Order: sequence, then structure tokens, then C-alpha cells
Amino acid sequence: MTAPRIPVAILGATGAVGQKLVTLLDGHPWFEVISVCASERNVGRQYGEAVRWIEPGTPPSSVAALVLQPARPGVAGAIAFSALEATAATEIEPLFASAGYHVVTNARTSRMEPDVPLMIPEINPDALSLLAGQRKRRGWEGSLVANPNCSVVVLAGVLAPLHRAFGIERVFAATMQAVSGAGYPGLPSLDALGNVVPFIDGEEEKFAPEIGKILSSSFALSAHVNRVPVVDGHTVALSVGFEKRVTPEEAREVLATFRPPAEVAALPSAPDAFLRIHDAEDRPQPRLDAGLGGGMTISVGRIRPCPLLDIRLVALAHNTVRGAAGAALLNAELLVSRGFIERPS
Ligand code: NAP
Repeated sequence: MTAPRIPVAILGATGAVGQKLVTLLDGHPWFEVISVCASERNVGRQYGEAVRWIEPGTPPSSVAALVLQPARPGVAGAIAFSALEATAATEIEPLFASAGYHVVTNARTSRMEPDVPLMIPEINPDALSLLAGQRKRRGWEGSLVANPNCSVVVLAGVLAPLHRAFGIERVFAATMQAVSGAGYPGLPSLDALGNVVPFIDGEEEKFAPEIGKILSSSFALSAHVNRVPVVDGHTVALSVGFEKRVTPEEAREVLATFRPPAEVAALPSAPDAFLRIHDAEDRPQPRLDAGLGGGMTISVGRIRPCPLLDIRLVALAHNTVRGAAGAALLNAELLVSRGFIERPS
């Protein structure tokens, strides 16, 4: 007999990240999707009919049969996974947290609020200590936890071990971000195909503050963001300067031996390898490597000397898995394993 699972709702279930959540939650050992919510234009329709499905195959039958509900407290579920568009998230997520739901969000709106954990479980699991104050101060029965921007996950995942080992002084980062990062339908094809768009509204400004909050430390960071004609997988080319001289071999050793805390590595959505080092000179590549570890592994390669700073490297992760839906899932799993959310017996 299978153990009873925690009932969960997905807010914004019809979007790109919402669909990835539906996919990753299918057969999840701890969570069961029992409610799906969308905007007014879809409320009342069966999920399977309303959704323009962009994941492989068809929606899981158990979710396809659910009727889309308004994103308002009252829907069944103990956890509300939010893949809401940002403006809607600002208004709706606090209503859910206030009503007793544990809201685990992908939206940007609350990430920088001081009492909201902005968490990558492998890097800063103790951010959850903010929740006691959050609930007390806001009078919430529930809680709100956020995962970072999809490129910040790549940056923080690689920079955290290096910063802890050597102390980073400055970073230059140029991103090559997949079109799925813009949601669905996202960019018009005439903008995306055979092209590079050197601007993503509001994106560059998020990097330094979000990384600073996750690492509880800051360094100078110059970011250039680009939208490129890749379906899934954000790639970042980095130059990193340290407080002392660091060789590529030393940096490689730190990244190759980095291990997340055992409690995080044991969570159902944690990949076998948080960081995967590639030594082939033409890797990582999004088409080949974004899916590693079920999309939860961050790939690192081309670790080499830099004539301007100390080292150069390339990092890559799946933006809708490690950068969004999978990140939220891992955050929720840590909430469960730390006892913030009870599993039914
Ligand atoms: P998307 O494809 O545009 O989906 C947005 C979802 O929000 C849809 O389900 C939509 O429902 C729903 N929605 C919009 N307005 C609503 C309202 N007033 N009330 C209820 N539901 C509403 O966007 P996405 O790419 O999945 O992104 C979702 C969130 O995750 C965003 O905040 C985004 O910034 C963040 N994020 C995305 C990525 C990524 O790689 N795509 C990565 C990290 C974070 P309808 O279909 O009914 O309109």
C-alpha cells in the first residue's frame, strides 16, 4: 500500500512553469495534485481541455480531469505551488499564506522581502529559519518561500562553493537564456529565431541582490543578459576574480568536491550530482546537458585561466526545472523534511 500523500494545489497551472510542475509532480512520493488554478479566462474548464500543453506527451490523466479553479484561498491543498504571473502573484500569494497554505513560489515579487526565504536547498537551507518571524510578524497561519531567478540559480550554485573557499571579489557574467524562460507563448518567433536579443526586462538588476541574499555576502557583479534561440537551458559564461590568486585547478577541485548537506541530498527531487564538472572542451551545451539529473544538475565546464580576472568558466542549468518548478519542489520537500509541513500518516 502506498503512503498517503500531501494534497497540493498549483496556482498558474496552465503556464510553462505550471505545466512543468504538473509533470514533475506526477507520481511524486510525497505530494499529490488535487487542485489546479488559472486566470478567470480558464476557470471552470477541465485542465486537459483548457491547457495548451507544451510538455512531451499529454497531461497526466488525474490532473487533466480536474476543473480549473480561481486562484483564491478555499481550494483544497496544504501546499500552494505558485507559477503565477508576477502581478497576480503579488496580490494572490499573501492571501494563500494568510489563509494557512504553505506557498512555494517561482514569482519574483516577494524574493527580496527580508522575511521571505530565498532558497536553494543545497546552498542555504537554513534560510528556513526566517519562517518563524515571518509567520509571527505577518500573523500568517501558512508561510511563503521563494526560489531564485532561473539564471541566479546557475550563478549562485557555482559561485557559492567558490566564494566560501576563496572569497570572490568580482564577477563578469554573460547569460544565454532559453526562450522557455519567457513563458508561453513568450517571445514572437520572428524575434527569437536565428537571433540574439541582448535585453530581458528587469533581469540584470535581479542578479546581484538575489545572489547577495542567498550567499549572505556581496561582491561586484557585472551582468549581460541575452535571449537566445534555445528551447530549454540557461547558459552563463563567467569570469571570476578572487581575494587571492586562484588557479583553474584549485577552482575545479572545489566545485568537483562540493557536496550539499546530507538531508538535502536525500530529498526525492535532489539529483545525484548537484554540480557536474565537464572536462570536454565543448561542454556544457543546453541540448546535451540541461536534462542531466532530471534537469536538476548544474553543469560546469571550460574552467580555465582568465587574462582579466582569475578564472573563466561556463555554467548551465535547465531553467524550468532547476530554475523554477524543480527548485520549488525541492524547497517544498525541505519544508516537509524539516517538519514545517506534516505528512499524513
Ligand atoms: P506563463 O507561461 O505566462 O504562465 C502564467 C500563469 O499565470 C498561467 O497559468 C496564467 O493562467 C496564470 N495567471 C496569470 N494571471 C493570473 C491571474 N490574474 N489569476 C490567476 N492566474 C493567473 O509564465 P511562466 O513562464 O510559467 O512563469 C510563471 C512564473 O514563474 C512567473 O512569475 C515567472 O516570472 C516565474 N519563473 C519562470 C521561469 C521560466 O523559466 N519560465 C523561471 C523562473 C521563474 P492563464 O493560462 O489562465 O492565463
